[in-house]
Amino acid sequence: DPRIDGIKTKIRVVPNFPKPGIMFQDITTLLLDPKAFKDTVDLFVERYKGKNISVVAGIEARGFIFGPPIALAIGAKFVPLRKPKKLPGEVISEEYTLEYGSDRLEMHVGAVNKGERALVVDDLIATGGTLCAAMNLLERAGSEIVECACLIELPELKGRDRLHGKPLYVLVEYH
Ligand code: IMP
Repeated sequence: DPRIDGIKTKIRVVPNFPKPGIMFQDITTLLLDPKAFKDTVDLFVERYKGKNISVVAGIEARGFIFGPPIALAIGAKFVPLRKPKKLPGEVISEEYTLEYGSDRLEMHVGAVNKGERALVVDDLIATGGTLCAAMNLLERAGSEIVECACLIELPELKGRDRLHGKPLYVLVEYH
């Protein structure tokens, strides 16, 4: 799709952020370009409309940028998966390991019903730990994960292999 190249050029790579040796993929530059931002959302919407998806789950924080416009366009609800202690209601939570230490994602009890078809959205997949925790939350609530969708994949880290055998769709690979 010719739109992909335009999207790729708007993602800024920032070396040594947030620490030495990391090549940070910065999507804020893509958001500054209304065409590239719209193309990004459109590509996901074209893929997921008519697929009977009733839940779009977005991972804090950048899944909150791309998830809601996709949810609105395909007629699904949006469910935020948040960092610890942000959600006011009763939650279920899943821990995942980071390079140093661990973190947790939480979801409101009752946000998702049994049997609902869900799409999980984030900006980037690296090791896959974050998406794996997100999928665990949704599956514990009884939903069926249709696919995970990210703008960017770092394929060398093989995060794809941690996604419970569910498909992953990405727009851009960064090697
Ligand atoms: P993973 O759990 O190792 O797959 O890391 C993915 C999570 O870390 C996602 O929530 C991303 O937003 C974040 N992340 C990791 N590397 C980058 C990056 O280069 N740019 C933006 N987000 C990143």
